[in-house]
Amino acid sequence: MNHSMNLIDLHCDTLSRLLCEKTGQDLKNTDCDVNLSGMKEAGAVAQFFACFTCLSEHQKDKSPEEGYEACYKQALELIELMEKQCVLFPEEIVLSRSYKEIVKSKEEGKISAVLTVEEGGILNGRPERIEILYEKGVRLMTLMWNFENCLGHPNSRDVGVMEKGLKDFGIETVRQMGKLGMIADVSHASDGTFRDIVKYAEGPVIASHSNCRALAGHPRNLSDDMIHTLADKGGIAGLNFYGVFLGTQTESKIEEMTAHILHMIKTGGREFPAIGTDFDGFGGMEHMDISNISQMGRLWEALKRKGLSEDQLDLIWSGNALRVLKALG
Ligand SMILES: [Zn+2]
Repeated sequence: MNHSMNLIDLHCDTLSRLLCEKTGQDLKNTDCDVNLSGMKEAGAVAQFFACFTCLSEHQKDKSPEEGYEACYKQALELIELMEKQCVLFPEEIVLSRSYKEIVKSKEEGKISAVLTVEEGGILNGRPERIEILYEKGVRLMTLMWNFENCLGHPNSRDVGVMEKGLKDFGIETVRQMGKLGMIADVSHASDGTFRDIVKYAEGPVIASHSNCRALAGHPRNLSDDMIHTLADKGGIAGLNFYGVFLGTQTESKIEEMTAHILHMIKTGGREFPAIGTDFDGFGGMEHMDISNISQMGRLWEALKRKGLSEDQLDLIWSGNALRVLKALG
Protein backbone atom coordinates (compact mmCIF):
# COMPACT_ATOMS: atom_id res chain seq x y z
CA MET A 1 0.00 0.00 0.00
CA ASN A 2 1.21 3.48 -0.81
CA HIS A 3 0.82 5.41 2.44
CA SER A 4 1.37 8.91 1.10
CA MET A 5 -1.20 11.29 2.60
CA ASN A 6 -3.28 8.24 3.54
CA LEU A 7 -4.80 9.14 6.87
CA ILE A 8 -5.85 6.99 9.78
CA ASP A 9 -7.43 9.05 12.55
CA LEU A 10 -7.62 7.01 15.74
CA HIS A 11 -10.29 9.07 17.48
CA CYS A 12 -13.32 11.23 16.77
CA ASP A 13 -16.59 11.75 18.64
CA THR A 14 -18.68 12.39 15.54
CA LEU A 15 -21.16 9.58 16.24
CA SER A 16 -22.10 11.06 19.62
CA ARG A 17 -22.76 14.43 18.02
CA LEU A 18 -24.84 12.87 15.25
CA LEU A 19 -26.89 10.97 17.83
CA CYS A 20 -27.32 13.66 20.48
CA GLU A 21 -27.16 17.14 18.97
CA LYS A 22 -27.20 16.74 15.20
CA THR A 23 -30.19 14.46 14.94
CA GLY A 24 -31.39 14.21 11.37
CA GLN A 25 -27.89 14.75 9.95
CA ASP A 26 -25.76 11.99 8.49
CA LEU A 27 -22.07 11.59 7.63
CA LYS A 28 -22.58 13.27 4.25
CA ASN A 29 -24.96 16.05 5.19
CA THR A 30 -23.57 17.45 8.40
CA ASP A 31 -21.62 20.33 9.84
CA CYS A 32 -19.61 17.93 12.03
CA ASP A 33 -15.80 18.24 11.83
CA VAL A 34 -15.60 14.71 10.41
CA ASN A 35 -17.75 14.03 7.36
CA LEU A 36 -17.51 12.09 4.11
CA SER A 37 -16.25 14.87 1.85
CA GLY A 38 -13.71 16.01 4.46
CA MET A 39 -12.39 12.49 4.95
CA LYS A 40 -12.01 12.10 1.18
CA GLU A 41 -10.12 15.37 0.96
CA ALA A 42 -7.83 14.19 3.78
CA GLY A 43 -7.10 10.94 1.96
CA ALA A 44 -8.66 8.93 4.79
CA VAL A 45 -7.97 5.21 4.72
CA ALA A 46 -9.67 4.59 8.03
CA GLN A 47 -11.47 6.67 10.59
CA PHE A 48 -11.91 5.29 14.10
CA PHE A 49 -15.40 6.24 15.33
CA ALA A 50 -15.76 6.27 19.11
CA CYS A 51 -18.98 5.09 20.67
CA PHE A 52 -18.61 7.46 23.57
CA THR A 53 -21.16 7.61 26.26
CA CYS A 54 -20.83 9.56 29.45
CA LEU A 55 -22.20 8.47 32.81
CA SER A 56 -23.11 11.93 34.06
CA GLU A 57 -25.73 12.42 31.35
CA HIS A 58 -27.43 9.22 32.46
CA GLN A 59 -27.06 9.33 36.20
CA LYS A 60 -29.58 12.01 37.03
CA ASP A 61 -31.97 10.25 39.43
CA LYS A 62 -30.18 6.95 38.80
CA SER A 63 -27.66 4.81 40.64
CA PRO A 64 -24.29 4.36 38.85
CA GLU A 65 -25.33 0.74 38.16
CA GLU A 66 -28.50 1.94 36.35
CA GLY A 67 -26.58 4.80 34.76
CA TYR A 68 -24.05 2.47 33.15
CA GLU A 69 -26.90 0.29 31.85
CA ALA A 70 -28.26 3.36 30.07
CA CYS A 71 -24.74 4.07 28.76
CA TYR A 72 -24.45 0.51 27.39
CA LYS A 73 -27.76 0.92 25.55
CA GLN A 74 -26.56 4.20 24.11
CA ALA A 75 -23.29 2.63 22.93
CA LEU A 76 -25.36 0.03 21.05
CA GLU A 77 -27.37 2.88 19.47
CA LEU A 78 -24.11 4.53 18.37
CA ILE A 79 -22.98 1.27 16.75
CA GLU A 80 -26.33 1.08 14.92
CA LEU A 81 -25.90 4.68 13.79
CA MET A 82 -22.51 3.79 12.27
CA GLU A 83 -24.00 0.71 10.56
CA LYS A 84 -26.72 2.96 9.16
CA GLN A 85 -24.12 5.33 7.62
CA CYS A 86 -22.52 2.36 5.84
CA VAL A 87 -25.94 1.37 4.45
CA LEU A 88 -26.67 4.96 3.38
CA PHE A 89 -23.30 5.43 1.63
CA PRO A 90 -22.11 1.95 0.62
CA GLU A 91 -19.82 3.21 -2.13
CA GLU A 92 -18.02 5.57 0.21
CA ILE A 93 -17.69 4.04 3.66
CA VAL A 94 -17.62 0.51 5.02
CA LEU A 95 -17.27 -1.02 8.47
CA SER A 96 -13.85 -2.73 8.60
CA ARG A 97 -12.95 -5.27 11.28
CA SER A 98 -9.34 -6.11 10.45
CA TYR A 99 -6.16 -4.97 8.74
CA LYS A 100 -7.09 -7.13 5.73
CA GLU A 101 -10.53 -5.56 5.44
CA ILE A 102 -9.02 -2.07 5.63
CA VAL A 103 -6.59 -2.88 2.80
CA LYS A 104 -9.41 -4.41 0.72
CA SER A 105 -11.71 -1.41 1.28
CA LYS A 106 -8.90 0.95 0.33
CA GLU A 107 -8.40 -0.97 -2.92
CA GLU A 108 -12.13 -0.58 -3.59
CA GLY A 109 -11.84 3.17 -3.04
CA LYS A 110 -13.80 3.09 0.19
CA ILE A 111 -13.02 4.61 3.58
CA SER A 112 -12.94 2.15 6.47
CA ALA A 113 -14.89 2.92 9.60
CA VAL A 114 -13.39 1.24 12.67
CA LEU A 115 -15.66 1.05 15.72
CA THR A 116 -14.32 1.84 19.17
CA VAL A 117 -15.89 2.15 22.61
CA GLU A 118 -14.88 5.05 24.85
CA GLU A 119 -15.79 4.39 28.49
CA GLY A 120 -15.31 0.74 29.41
CA GLY A 121 -17.74 1.31 32.28
CA ILE A 122 -20.50 0.24 29.88
CA LEU A 123 -19.44 -3.37 30.54
CA ASN A 124 -20.89 -2.77 34.01
CA GLY A 125 -19.16 -5.86 35.39
CA ARG A 126 -20.53 -8.19 32.68
CA PRO A 127 -17.66 -9.95 30.84
CA GLU A 128 -19.95 -11.35 28.13
CA ARG A 129 -20.37 -7.82 26.80
CA ILE A 130 -16.74 -7.74 25.57
CA GLU A 131 -17.56 -10.55 23.16
CA ILE A 132 -20.87 -8.95 22.13
CA LEU A 133 -19.08 -5.69 21.31
CA TYR A 134 -16.33 -7.56 19.46
CA GLU A 135 -18.96 -9.39 17.37
CA LYS A 136 -20.46 -6.03 16.44
CA GLY A 137 -17.07 -4.92 15.10
CA VAL A 138 -15.57 -3.00 18.03
CA ARG A 139 -11.79 -3.31 17.70
CA LEU A 140 -10.58 -0.87 20.35
CA MET A 141 -11.82 0.00 23.80
CA THR A 142 -10.78 3.06 25.79
CA LEU A 143 -11.06 1.45 29.20
CA MET A 144 -11.49 4.62 31.22
CA TRP A 145 -13.11 7.99 30.75
CA ASN A 146 -12.97 10.68 33.41
CA PHE A 147 -14.73 8.71 36.18
CA GLU A 148 -13.86 5.66 38.22
CA ASN A 149 -15.66 2.69 36.66
CA CYS A 150 -15.90 -1.11 37.06
CA LEU A 151 -12.47 -1.50 35.38
CA GLY A 152 -10.24 1.01 37.14
CA HIS A 153 -9.37 4.63 37.82
CA PRO A 154 -9.22 7.72 35.59
CA ASN A 155 -6.61 10.42 35.00
CA SER A 156 -6.73 12.98 37.77
CA ARG A 157 -4.85 15.87 39.37
CA ASP A 158 -5.38 14.03 42.66
CA VAL A 159 -2.18 12.02 43.20
CA GLY A 160 -4.09 9.43 45.25
CA VAL A 161 -6.45 8.70 42.33
CA MET A 162 -3.64 8.93 39.77
CA GLU A 163 -1.75 6.10 41.49
CA LYS A 164 -4.75 3.75 41.67
CA GLY A 165 -4.82 1.12 38.95
CA LEU A 166 -7.04 -1.55 37.44
CA LYS A 167 -9.59 -3.48 39.51
CA ASP A 168 -9.82 -7.28 39.26
CA PHE A 169 -12.54 -7.01 36.60
CA GLY A 170 -10.32 -4.56 34.68
CA ILE A 171 -7.44 -7.05 34.67
CA GLU A 172 -9.79 -9.80 33.48
CA THR A 173 -11.15 -7.47 30.76
CA VAL A 174 -7.72 -6.43 29.46
CA ARG A 175 -6.70 -10.09 29.18
CA GLN A 176 -9.95 -11.00 27.41
CA MET A 177 -9.54 -8.11 24.94
CA GLY A 178 -6.08 -9.36 24.00
CA LYS A 179 -7.36 -12.88 23.42
CA LEU A 180 -10.22 -11.65 21.22
CA GLY A 181 -8.20 -9.10 19.22
CA MET A 182 -9.37 -5.78 20.64
CA ILE A 183 -6.85 -2.96 21.16
CA ALA A 184 -6.53 -1.71 24.75
CA ASP A 185 -6.54 2.10 24.79
CA VAL A 186 -4.88 3.89 27.73
CA SER A 187 -6.13 7.42 26.91
CA HIS A 188 -7.99 8.88 29.94
CA ALA A 189 -6.45 6.27 32.31
CA SER A 190 -4.71 7.13 35.59
CA ASP A 191 -0.96 6.50 35.70
CA GLY A 192 -1.64 3.41 37.84
CA THR A 193 -4.26 2.11 35.41
CA PHE A 194 -1.84 2.79 32.54
CA ARG A 195 0.84 0.66 34.22
CA ASP A 196 -1.64 -2.16 34.91
CA ILE A 197 -3.00 -2.17 31.36
CA VAL A 198 0.52 -2.48 29.97
CA LYS A 199 1.30 -5.18 32.55
CA TYR A 200 -1.72 -7.41 31.93
CA ALA A 201 -2.49 -6.81 28.23
CA GLU A 202 -2.02 -9.79 25.94
CA GLY A 203 -2.47 -7.74 22.75
CA PRO A 204 -1.69 -4.24 21.41
CA VAL A 205 -1.85 -1.25 23.76
CA ILE A 206 -2.09 2.31 22.42
CA ALA A 207 -3.02 5.84 23.51
CA SER A 208 -5.56 6.75 20.84
CA HIS A 209 -5.81 10.48 21.62
CA SER A 210 -3.15 11.76 24.05
CA ASN A 211 -0.26 14.23 23.84
CA CYS A 212 3.03 14.73 25.72
CA ARG A 213 3.10 15.76 29.39
CA ALA A 214 6.64 17.14 28.93
CA LEU A 215 5.16 19.89 26.72
CA ALA A 216 1.71 20.27 28.29
CA GLY A 217 1.49 19.19 31.91
CA HIS A 218 -2.04 17.78 31.86
CA PRO A 219 -2.87 14.43 33.51
CA ARG A 220 -4.55 13.32 30.22
CA ASN A 221 -1.15 13.47 28.49
CA LEU A 222 1.67 10.90 28.49
CA SER A 223 4.83 11.31 30.55
CA ASP A 224 8.14 10.49 28.84
CA ASP A 225 8.25 7.29 30.91
CA MET A 226 4.84 6.28 29.59
CA ILE A 227 5.93 7.02 26.02
CA HIS A 228 9.02 4.79 26.50
CA THR A 229 6.90 2.02 27.99
CA LEU A 230 4.31 2.12 25.19
CA ALA A 231 6.92 2.37 22.43
CA ASP A 232 8.89 -0.59 23.86
CA LYS A 233 5.73 -2.70 23.49
CA GLY A 234 5.15 -1.58 19.90
CA GLY A 235 2.39 0.83 20.91
CA ILE A 236 1.55 4.24 19.44
CA ALA A 237 -0.09 7.53 20.45
CA GLY A 238 -2.51 9.62 18.38
CA LEU A 239 -1.93 13.39 18.41
CA ASN A 240 -4.92 15.15 20.02
CA PHE A 241 -5.92 18.57 18.63
CA TYR A 242 -7.57 19.85 21.82
CA GLY A 243 -5.84 23.10 22.84
CA VAL A 244 -5.78 22.17 26.53
CA PHE A 245 -3.77 19.01 25.77
CA LEU A 246 -1.54 20.88 23.31
CA GLY A 247 -0.74 23.39 26.08
CA THR A 248 -2.37 26.41 24.46
CA GLN A 249 -5.73 26.26 26.29
CA THR A 250 -8.26 28.03 24.05
CA GLU A 251 -6.31 27.77 20.82
CA SER A 252 -5.46 24.73 18.74
CA LYS A 253 -2.42 25.59 16.68
CA ILE A 254 -0.20 23.75 14.22
CA GLU A 255 2.98 25.02 15.90
CA GLU A 256 2.22 23.05 19.08
CA MET A 257 0.98 20.03 17.12
CA THR A 258 4.32 19.77 15.35
CA ALA A 259 6.15 20.20 18.70
CA HIS A 260 4.23 17.28 20.24
CA ILE A 261 4.89 15.07 17.20
CA LEU A 262 8.61 15.92 17.28
CA HIS A 263 8.72 15.13 21.01
CA MET A 264 6.96 11.81 20.42
CA ILE A 265 9.58 10.91 17.80
CA LYS A 266 12.46 12.03 20.04
CA THR A 267 11.14 10.05 23.00
CA GLY A 268 9.32 7.06 21.48
CA GLY A 269 11.03 6.74 18.13
CA ARG A 270 9.85 7.11 14.55
CA GLU A 271 7.39 4.24 14.85
CA PHE A 272 5.52 5.81 17.78
CA PRO A 273 3.44 8.84 16.67
CA ALA A 274 0.05 8.67 14.98
CA ILE A 275 -3.02 10.88 14.66
CA GLY A 276 -6.01 10.91 17.04
CA THR A 277 -7.66 14.27 16.37
CA ASP A 278 -10.54 14.08 18.88
CA PHE A 279 -12.61 16.04 16.34
CA ASP A 280 -16.21 16.60 17.45
CA GLY A 281 -15.12 15.68 20.97
CA PHE A 282 -14.17 19.04 22.44
CA GLY A 283 -15.36 22.65 22.48
CA GLY A 284 -14.24 25.95 23.93
CA MET A 285 -11.68 26.76 21.24
CA GLU A 286 -11.47 30.41 20.19
CA HIS A 287 -9.24 29.45 17.29
CA MET A 288 -8.31 26.26 15.45
CA ASP A 289 -5.60 26.17 12.75
CA ILE A 290 -7.12 22.88 11.58
CA SER A 291 -10.83 23.16 12.16
CA ASN A 292 -11.98 19.97 10.46
CA ILE A 293 -10.67 16.74 8.94
CA SER A 294 -10.50 18.17 5.39
CA GLN A 295 -7.64 20.46 6.47
CA MET A 296 -5.22 17.73 7.58
CA GLY A 297 -2.87 18.53 4.71
CA ARG A 298 -1.85 21.69 6.62
CA LEU A 299 -0.24 19.58 9.35
CA TRP A 300 1.51 17.38 6.78
CA GLU A 301 3.03 20.48 5.14
CA ALA A 302 4.04 21.99 8.48
CA LEU A 303 5.79 18.79 9.58
CA LYS A 304 7.56 18.66 6.23
CA ARG A 305 8.81 22.19 6.80
CA LYS A 306 10.13 21.00 10.19
CA GLY A 307 12.30 18.56 8.25
CA LEU A 308 10.37 15.29 8.52
CA SER A 309 10.80 12.96 5.58
CA GLU A 310 7.80 11.67 3.61
CA ASP A 311 8.61 8.19 4.94
CA GLN A 312 8.28 9.49 8.49
CA LEU A 313 5.06 11.31 7.57
CA ASP A 314 3.65 8.12 6.06
CA LEU A 315 4.31 6.36 9.37
CA ILE A 316 2.53 9.10 11.34
CA TRP A 317 -0.40 9.32 8.95
CA SER A 318 -1.12 5.60 8.70
CA GLY A 319 1.92 3.31 8.77
CA ASN A 320 2.22 3.11 12.54
CA ALA A 321 -1.51 2.56 13.03
CA LEU A 322 -1.55 -0.11 10.29
CA ARG A 323 1.28 -1.94 12.04
CA VAL A 324 -0.80 -2.16 15.23
CA LEU A 325 -3.90 -3.26 13.30
CA LYS A 326 -1.87 -5.92 11.50
CA ALA A 327 -0.63 -7.26 14.86
CA LEU A 328 -4.26 -7.56 15.91
CA GLY A 329 -4.74 -10.20 13.20
ZN1 LIG B 1 -11.64 11.10 24.94
